[in-house]
Amino acid sequence: PEHYNIGVGTCDKWAEADPDRIALIEVEEDGYGPLRETSFAELHAASNRFANVLAAKGLGGNGRDAGDRVAILLPQRRETAIAHIAAFKAGCVSLPLFTLFGPEALLHRLRDSGARVLVTDPASFELIREIRAELPALEAVFVTDGGAEGAEDFDAALDGASPEFTPVKTRAETPGVLIYTSGTTGNPKGALHAHRVLLGHLPGVEMSHDFLPQEGDRIWTPADWAWIGGLLDVLLPALHHGVPVVACRFRKFSARAAADLIRRLRVRNAFLPPTALKMMKADPDSVAWDLQMRSVASGGEPLGAQLLDWGRKALGVTINEFYGQTECNMVVSSAASLDAPEPGAMGWPVPGHEVAIIDSASGERLPEGAEGAIAVRAPDPVMFLGYFNQPEATEAKFVTGSEGRWLLTGDRGVAGREGRLRFKGRDDDIISTGGYRVGPAEIEDCLIAHPAVQMAGVVGQPDPLRGEIVAAFITLCPGYGDSESLREDLAQHVRARLAKYEYPRAIYVIDDMPVTTTGKIIRNALRARLPQETVQ
Ligand code: ATP
Repeated sequence: PEHYNIGVGTCDKWAEADPDRIALIEVEEDGYGPLRETSFAELHAASNRFANVLAAKGLGGNGRDAGDRVAILLPQRRETAIAHIAAFKAGCVSLPLFTLFGPEALLHRLRDSGARVLVTDPASFELIREIRAELPALEAVFVTDGGAEGAEDFDAALDGASPEFTPVKTRAETPGVLIYTSGTTGNPKGALHAHRVLLGHLPGVEMSHDFLPQEGDRIWTPADWAWIGGLLDVLLPALHHGVPVVACRFRKFSARAAADLIRRLRVRNAFLPPTALKMMKADPDSVAWDLQMRSVASGGEPLGAQLLDWGRKALGVTINEFYGQTECNMVVSSAASLDAPEPGAMGWPVPGHEVAIIDSASGERLPEGAEGAIAVRAPDPVMFLGYFNQPEATEAKFVTGSEGRWLLTGDRGVAGREGRLRFKGRDDDIISTGGYRVGPAEIEDCLIAHPAVQMAGVVGQPDPLRGEIVAAFITLCPGYGDSESLREDLAQHVRARLAKYEYPRAIYVIDDMPVTTTGKIIRNALRARLPQETVQ
């Protein structure tokens, strides 16, 4: 549509059609605390109130360019949804931030985005105090749960504002959300998405989540709503469809509490990121859980055969694996349509996306079966507008060939029959050993299949003979220790399962795996831990 405002699309129409319909079901920090339900009528009124607060501070937008940035540093809770929807209605750009971030990560994003307002809770406000002097653009901080000294009280501000608000007329093209990439490969970049992102994105979400709503659906994700997968794949589409979203403030994710929550709150649909699935699988009772879910989606990093197998038994459904990235909206290709999902097989592009394997220099398509750069073309509705204030980085993300302009994902893959996609690995993670090109995912999956291995991260280690050798960093499950016999056993395990050039020739046992806030292994941090003499 010519005028589309995500705030209106996710809230107002339900507030009018079915005001008492439940939008949010909240559970406190440990997953067991009191329930708080929010209806669409309440969400509508509260978001209008906060939109009025923002407008009274002079924040908003002209409906064309990026409006003022409103940073939201909150866990999964009602106020998070209110703040996002209010920002959209006021013509501002919402900026989701993880509560797990330390001061440096917060400073980078708040400075880079020039946020003028921040909404947070008392715990996270303590961090903001430390860095506030370095954020001259930040004019106002709203704090929930009674406020804090040096900040405005979020609830009091809402109480003092009118529940009527006329949303700013945004166009489909108007910037609406500024969301930073995970930072797996370097400094995270702010990907700016337009209001149309939600509409363009819905078919992909529907396909990957099997999310054409049915009576009784209730969706939950342990993924932070500050991640694109939490915000744009769960919270906003579910509200758009009128499906209640379960919001849980797990202080620390626990497999048992997750299973209890699914049962107790009758959660039928979920987005479970690979890290959550791995932790659930590690619970010795999990196969007997029989959770009877209706649909479970996962993606963001490789799932592997172990998890897919386990999912069928413990969750009662086949996990729909999807592939994508922040810049083109996280769901680009989905294995949901495959009869027999297998690791690395990403199925077909979801509606609205064209995916090809191309030569990244020429922008030309490679023949079926060849390995090359995964490139995406999408009509405007799903593609990001660009990196915030970084025109050169945006330009470098695209290549133009005879068929037109492609977004370079930075990943490598192989095109199969009828456009099926097989994911090989990130450009920088592919290991080149003795003339073979190896993606780390399959090797990590094989290592994790060994009972002693909890997590595995595989990188290339420079080698005078082979160019690189496969080096594996592993953490061990409780009760296991590093020993000669364990290493012998691991060597036999990989030899029985992997091609000869794929064997990890060096194995390093470490105490903690370096991961991002989205749970992805930071391979650069592993490379930095390789023995120095090999790196020169
Ligand atoms: P940064 O761009 O800051 O380095 P990032 O690439 O991790 O961080 P995201 O946009 O969160 O940022 O992640 C997208 C990437 O995640 C993809 O480009 C791909 O490498 C990986 N990915 C996504 N889904 C899958 C999947 N199903 N299997 C394997 N890898 C995946």
